[in-house]
Amino acid sequence: MEFDLIAKYFTRATPSAVLGVGDDCALLAPTPGMQLVVSSDMLIEGRHFSPQDSPAGIGHKSLAVNLSDLAAMGATPRWATLSIALPEANDAWLTAFARGFFRMADTHGIELVGGDTTRGALTICITVIGEVPPGQALRRDGAQPGDDVWVSGVIGSAAMALAYRQGRLFMEQIDAARVLPALYLPTPRVELGIALRGIATSAIDISDGLLGDLGHILERSQAGAALIGARLEFASLPTLPVVQACLHEAVARDCVLAGGDDYELCFTAPAVRHDAVQAAAGSAGVAVTRIGRITAEPGIAVIDADGQPLPIERTGYDHFAA
Ligand code: ADP
Ligand code: MG
Repeated sequence: MEFDLIAKYFTRATPSAVLGVGDDCALLAPTPGMQLVVSSDMLIEGRHFSPQDSPAGIGHKSLAVNLSDLAAMGATPRWATLSIALPEANDAWLTAFARGFFRMADTHGIELVGGDTTRGALTICITVIGEVPPGQALRRDGAQPGDDVWVSGVIGSAAMALAYRQGRLFMEQIDAARVLPALYLPTPRVELGIALRGIATSAIDISDGLLGDLGHILERSQAGAALIGARLEFASLPTLPVVQACLHEAVARDCVLAGGDDYELCFTAPAVRHDAVQAAAGSAGVAVTRIGRITAEPGIAVIDADGQPLPIERTGYDHFAA
């Protein structure tokens, strides 16, 4: 039963592995001279997705959020494992889940080489393995005062979509349709991360909110005891027109500054590398926007159009907050 299920839904050709699904372990031959980059992310029903969500979307998103971590390290995706607990072996659900999962995998050239399958409350744990040339990983700890702060794509959309879905924010259907894809079908910025090798001084993917995630860069980058900070211009933050037009200004602002789930990259680069950043983004086919600067003063200041600091209520999503 369990083995039929693995064979039917999760066994694909894995030309880049020495040995894929079917033995006690997968056998992988890393590219000589490359460093391995490894990350796991767990998604749990009720917390990261709801039972009504489309299974293809769940397959897409569960791999996308893992690929986003590889992107944030500037890594080239290679292999993945999938450990999944399922309440029942539902053919339609598994077929659609696998379709969403493998479509995302094929887009980014990552191969499923193993995992575990068991009965239980729907839980998905994926481990991804990528490669990066030694010394070229984009880490959180390289930001320096004076560096520009950048983000890719647009932010705040996924959090707006979640607020809408949870009934905390009213939106016309036509407007909701513009933000919902960010929540259900995020795009990991894999090509951008690779293109930023040797250019970005630090990077993180925005999973829990811009301010919180940029805060992680600042914490990791502090030089000895010397804290660093950032100054962001609120008006420069890239958002969809429907987010800008939102009448619930406080909600929209919170979504942009502290909303999670956008899976865009936030990164820093020396101001003199401005054109190189733009060229990297161009080659990756992603828009990037300079949103501020790293400063020697600790903390993040968000400046409004009048040059006044905005009051910040919260910085991001915390899985252990009530
Ligand atoms: P073991 O009992 O040795 O852990 P399993 O019965 O759990 O082996 O798995 C058999 C094979 O199927 C292994 O190669 C494992 O990596 C693979 N596998 C199990 N579940 C999955 C899954 N959801 N996706 C991909 N491969 C899987
Ligand atoms: Mg097992």
